[in-house]
Amino acid sequence: MTVVITRMSTLFLRTLRDDPADAEVPSHKLLVRAGYVRRVAPGVYSWLPLGLKVLRRVEDVVREEMNNIGGQEISLPALLPREPYDVTGRWTEYGDALFRLKDRKGADMLLGPTHEELFAQLVKGEYSSYKDLPVTLYQIQTKYRDEERPRAGILRGREFIMKDSYSFDLDIDGSKASYDAHREAYQEIFRRLQVKYVIVAATSGAMGGSASEEFLAESEVGEDTYVRSPESGYAANVEAVITPAPPALPIEGLPAAAVHDTGDTPTIDTLVAWAQETFPDRGFTAADTLKNVVVKLRSPGGEEELLAIGVPGDREVDFKRLEAAVEPAAVELITDADFAKNSFLVRGYIGPKGLQDNGVRYLVDPRIVDGTAWITGADAPGKHVVDLVAGRDFEPDGTIEAAEVRDGDPSPDGAGTLVTARGIEIGHIFQLGTKYTDAFDVGVLGENGKPVRLIQGSYGVGVSRMVAVIAEQHHDDKGLRWPKEVAPFDVHLVIANKDEGAWSGARSLAADLDAAGFSVLIDDRKASPGVKFKDAELLGMPVVVVVGRGWANGTVEIRDRFTGEATEVASDTAVATIV
Ligand code: ATP
Ligand code: MG
Ligand code: MG
Ligand code: MG
Repeated sequence: MTVVITRMSTLFLRTLRDDPADAEVPSHKLLVRAGYVRRVAPGVYSWLPLGLKVLRRVEDVVREEMNNIGGQEISLPALLPREPYDVTGRWTEYGDALFRLKDRKGADMLLGPTHEELFAQLVKGEYSSYKDLPVTLYQIQTKYRDEERPRAGILRGREFIMKDSYSFDLDIDGSKASYDAHREAYQEIFRRLQVKYVIVAATSGAMGGSASEEFLAESEVGEDTYVRSPESGYAANVEAVITPAPPALPIEGLPAAAVHDTGDTPTIDTLVAWAQETFPDRGFTAADTLKNVVVKLRSPGGEEELLAIGVPGDREVDFKRLEAAVEPAAVELITDADFAKNSFLVRGYIGPKGLQDNGVRYLVDPRIVDGTAWITGADAPGKHVVDLVAGRDFEPDGTIEAAEVRDGDPSPDGAGTLVTARGIEIGHIFQLGTKYTDAFDVGVLGENGKPVRLIQGSYGVGVSRMVAVIAEQHHDDKGLRWPKEVAPFDVHLVIANKDEGAWSGARSLAADLDAAGFSVLIDDRKASPGVKFKDAELLGMPVVVVVGRGWANGTVEIRDRFTGEATEVASDTAVATIV
């Protein structure tokens, strides 16, 4: 077998001396300077040889762990028809983040941002019996999101690679088991990739569903803030913090009609009952689930206005009724409302052009939003108020800031106090319930002959983002420092001696290393040792072997890029020394 050693003299690589002008975070600067990636457009990058190797190695780790939990790899298109996303409302809900396009016949298409709809449809098409289940399918695929702020190179791309998997189970217990298996697989993936991370409670956002957790890599440049109670282990994204006892609220100044006194802890049911009683002619129907509940109480100028409730399946109808019933721009859509937990996600509003949703996720802190009081939940029983008019009291498409959680706030679970830190989201796992399987009527015939609705889970890992995250956590001021599991090469062999014997010796050492199972990058350029050492540090292979001055005396130097340690060893023991 001929040995092909990758040679720096012919490698398609140009390292840069200066940081790219648009780079702010270390991983971005280093990955560009070291020639791993190159920018094509904001949030759109090319992968060069070394970068692609790291990416593939990250993929391999993810793939192995997905296979270990019984996941089956498939690959769906990124170019998708509009229809499935219309069925779930996400064609609209995704807002500006969705890349929409038309084909030559004028049909609407999109570039997939995530594939819950397609997987639900796919399983429906293939399976019809309970005997086929459970099943977990996954893909490692390019996703598209027109991010408002593409950032930090490949950290937040508009084109990026995600591993997304989807589980389908016959019952809640099965679905929980699939979720737990993914949770463990993710822990194993991030352990192998040597990423420091925390698992935090998260909101389900545009995905919908009941429970979700995020894996956040610890990093000061992260865009997510999370809180943690060192005493109890409680950890949550600030977006998902369930706040304890809300402070006293200034309800005195509000119009009387804005205050609704339920007499006890309000729930969706008591709200519905109240609304039906108060507005008998509106024909409100009770929501039978908390999912996709659309609720808005409004009291402009002291007059009661509207409350609308929608359940999955008839959202179009509800929105139409909403539009007919109210002035434009006066209604917010609140989904995933969980009154018991004080959690509301405001997803959009009805504007002059009908239902509008810019895809921005708001968490409405139940305490105070722009001077508006939301009083509800276990710790403030008795009253809840919404008085808030789009366009008058706030800009309809402006972001509503969640009230800040601060260091030292009491932990919601009552144990200890919170500390805040920043992180980069590297994984997200969801229990979707039946949101998508309801939408596409995905069911099978059960054991007793009765139809069973499947329960879906959805799980994502940012594969291309991981490359940046690893670089972010493993570098020093000289360059990258790849963990062994993902390094483009195991050994970087630097020839730093002009002697011809040293050159041929270095080549045969490279062949020996290769034979011993190490991948080798040999720096055979006609450059000065100084230049070569600088590049070796920048590129970041875990082991650097230097064939230098000592060669004449039968020694080479082995440098550990992680510890910076350098040891002189006899050249004929070099291969055995490297682990
Ligand atoms: P973020 O909060 O960072 O915007 P997200 O919550 O929108 O991420 P998900 O929809 O949960 O992302 O997608 C699953 C995973 O895909 C994320 O955990 C993240 O690792 C990765 N990911 C999401 N958006 C991007 C992006 N623009 N570039 C690179 N990776 C991304
Ligand atoms: Mg996002
Ligand atoms: Mg997120
Ligand atoms: Mg997420």
